Amino acid sequence: MKVNKNKLVISIDLDEWYHARWVTGSKISRYPDTLSFFREVYNLDRPRGDIEKPTIEILEMLEEFNIKATFFILGEIAGYYPHLVKEITKNGHEISCHGKNHKDLWSYTPQTFRSDLKEAKNLLEDLSGQKVIGYRAPNLVIEDWIVPILIELGFEYDSSVCPSRKLMGKFGRSKSLPAHPYFLSENSFKPGNGPLFEIPIPVFPFLKLPAATGIMTRVIGVWWSRFALKYNLRSHDALYYFHPYEMVEAPQLDNLTVMQKLHSRRSGDWMKTAVEKLLHTFKDQSKLTCLQLMNLYTNN
Ligand SMILES: [Zn+2]
Repeated sequence: MKVNKNKLVISIDLDEWYHARWVTGSKISRYPDTLSFFREVYNLDRPRGDIEKPTIEILEMLEEFNIKATFFILGEIAGYYPHLVKEITKNGHEISCHGKNHKDLWSYTPQTFRSDLKEAKNLLEDLSGQKVIGYRAPNLVIEDWIVPILIELGFEYDSSVCPSRKLMGKFGRSKSLPAHPYFLSENSFKPGNGPLFEIPIPVFPFLKLPAATGIMTRVIGVWWSRFALKYNLRSHDALYYFHPYEMVEAPQLDNLTVMQKLHSRRSGDWMKTAVEKLLHTFKDQSKLTCLQLMNLYTNN
């Protein structure tokens, strides 16, 4: 098979299954925040450590495929697991920021968004010794007003745009944005001459539904993500992301709706094998982190 020269960035979001919108962090959540969740469900004041084993397994998997990836880490997770941030850094991967808490943007004012994000960025920089310049919005929920704040705080790229049709109350407004990497304008996610580089999350061709995410790989199948990635890579660089929590069996809560059950579908070994298959398919194209991809665009 002829290998396309376009690049695929592999990225991993470090948050846990209870950060899903139906559990915590949004208007439709069962629990007001993660601390209430820990107390009610775990009987603890902190998470149980479920994220540690799969994160280490992901590091081993990346090592095996000789891939350097970008880890978008939640400030809250870095606070509970500082050693994981150090371990990821030690393995030569890029550290980026996934916000402080995994909350939809609608719960923030520009002032609280700025101060929380600054705190998370500083913590990640202290733990990793790296300059943190990348951002991915929790739940991929974005608003134009965050663009100037990202620039002001020293971010150089964002990877939150998913040009999907409206789905589960999200995305609709990003539908007309590009699927290829581009520069944002100074005040919005629209293309322009601003300093912030965007690495969007590819959607499935024609249908315009999210495709390059671990969640969609599990819900629909490996073929869905593989087909969409191949299609996107034909014309431009692309990105795939998944989570450590998807590599372990999802804990079951009572009275789940069909959509909530779908969210944890095929978590565990099925997903581990699925990611290995995708990494294998794209192994020759997946050698760059987000930062390295951005440098290809800024140095030209
Ligand atoms: Zn997330």
